[in-house]
Amino acid sequence: MADQHSPIIVWLREDLRLSDHPALYAAAKTGAPMICLYVLDDTPPLRPLGGAARWWLAQSLRALANGLQAVGGTLLLRRGPAAKVIAEVAGRAKAKAVFWNEIAQAPHRAAERALSASLHEMGVEAQSFPGDLLVRPEAIRGKDGKGLRVFTPFWKRVLALGDPSVPLPAPTALRAALPQPGEQLAGLGLEPTKPDWAGGLRETWQPGETAAQGRLKAFLADGIGSYANERDRPHRDATSGLSPHLRFGELSPRQIFHAARFAAAEHPSLAADVGKFLSELGWREFCRHLLFDHPDLSTRNLQSSFDAFPWRHDAPALGAWQCGATGYPIVDAGMRQLWQTGTMHNRVRMVVASFLVKHLLIDWRAGEAWFWDTLVDADAGSNPANWQWVAGSGADAAPYFRIFNPVLQCEKFDPDGDYVQRWVPELAGLPAPLIHRPWSASPIELASAQVKLGVTYPAPIIEHKAARTRALAAYQRTRAQV
Ligand code: FAD
Repeated sequence: MADQHSPIIVWLREDLRLSDHPALYAAAKTGAPMICLYVLDDTPPLRPLGGAARWWLAQSLRALANGLQAVGGTLLLRRGPAAKVIAEVAGRAKAKAVFWNEIAQAPHRAAERALSASLHEMGVEAQSFPGDLLVRPEAIRGKDGKGLRVFTPFWKRVLALGDPSVPLPAPTALRAALPQPGEQLAGLGLEPTKPDWAGGLRETWQPGETAAQGRLKAFLADGIGSYANERDRPHRDATSGLSPHLRFGELSPRQIFHAARFAAAEHPSLAADVGKFLSELGWREFCRHLLFDHPDLSTRNLQSSFDAFPWRHDAPALGAWQCGATGYPIVDAGMRQLWQTGTMHNRVRMVVASFLVKHLLIDWRAGEAWFWDTLVDADAGSNPANWQWVAGSGADAAPYFRIFNPVLQCEKFDPDGDYVQRWVPELAGLPAPLIHRPWSASPIELASAQVKLGVTYPAPIIEHKAARTRALAAYQRTRAQV
């Protein structure tokens, strides 16, 4: 029988924060003892996290445990099929209820349903709360009852619903329940040891709610004013850098929404930049709504005409792309930034993705899988949706004839070559614009920059014009089959 000493379990997943956490807030308000529980669950159909995201998760859990401890709580770690593990903890601890924030993704919903069913049988209350989105996918439907597949009308509909509710404060005091058997963080095996490849990630990032809030505050105080103009410049620190914090729920989208709106209200001159920034947050929302409607977004073309696309199997070319050795400086810079830091600038993500899919005609799923493993912000919605957008197989996709010219992209967005210099240092001796196309430098220019093409830096693995012609032909054939 539940009594005043029976604990409430708060099941944490992709919401590793204390503030604006509806489930934690509601549980704390009851005054009951609490078990804050994270279950590492890799059971299919849940997609196991990639290496970089696992590293982030470990740091985020550490930060969360400290945050909970500061207000009197504790974090219990377990692994296994979440529904089974939580029901077992609930039984052992004689819990009266389990609270959680929803995740609008089919495999997570399946786990929630399985848990609710077990708890119901045990006579334990189950309560879920709105979760990781500004708007529930069910609230934005077209006339056919399906989700929208074009961004602009989607975002208009989201904004027309009015501002999301005001974020909730973090609980200031929690009552921890009696300790339960759990895992040590190291026992979850999230961090690389031999070899420890995470040095670049540690240098680049500080995961956790406090760092996330600091980053948001600093961005809105100093960075947002140049967002609209500078956000496409990969060398400038002109974007928020919030994506991994959002991915793991160290911040909620509505916290960002309200903070950005507040900044614009205080400084009306920021309105346009804030509007642009919020529409990017809208893309995250759009991608997640798409995922809600298409749980197989990472494996299946949204446009079935692409099922017959003549993708090439070319392991050496895929390998050259992965390790940043294609001979195209902007592509190589992006892929090396990704490998070392677990992130890549959005403009460069588009360029490298286009290069893989269109220049090399390699299936977008191979690129998506590589990003999934190497990005700290690898997201079940944004990653495949953006890959499909670039490939042309997705919703609201880039037109098939848009084939980025990697040299022109570089000249436009990295005119002085700063980004390439930073990530491809063996080309640093070449002045712009030659640094963007070293193959067009004269032997003297190459020699004075100490560049030997094919030796110190690869020659291009494919010639741009030929690749473009081949891609257009393949895309036209695919369209003809529709
Ligand atoms: P800001 O410019 O500050 O934007 C604010 C927030 O808006 C971001 O944190 C992010 O949550 C969201 N956002 C911005 N652009 C997009 C977009 N195009 N799609 C969806 N959300 C967006 N983003 C991920 O979070 N996870 C991924 O796995 C991911 N994979 C991508 C794969 C490809 C091929 C491409 C082209 C883009 C991908 N993106 C992904 C989107 C985008 O590149 C990143 O969100 C952005 O670079 C993160 O930097 P930021 O936080 O400084 O962004």
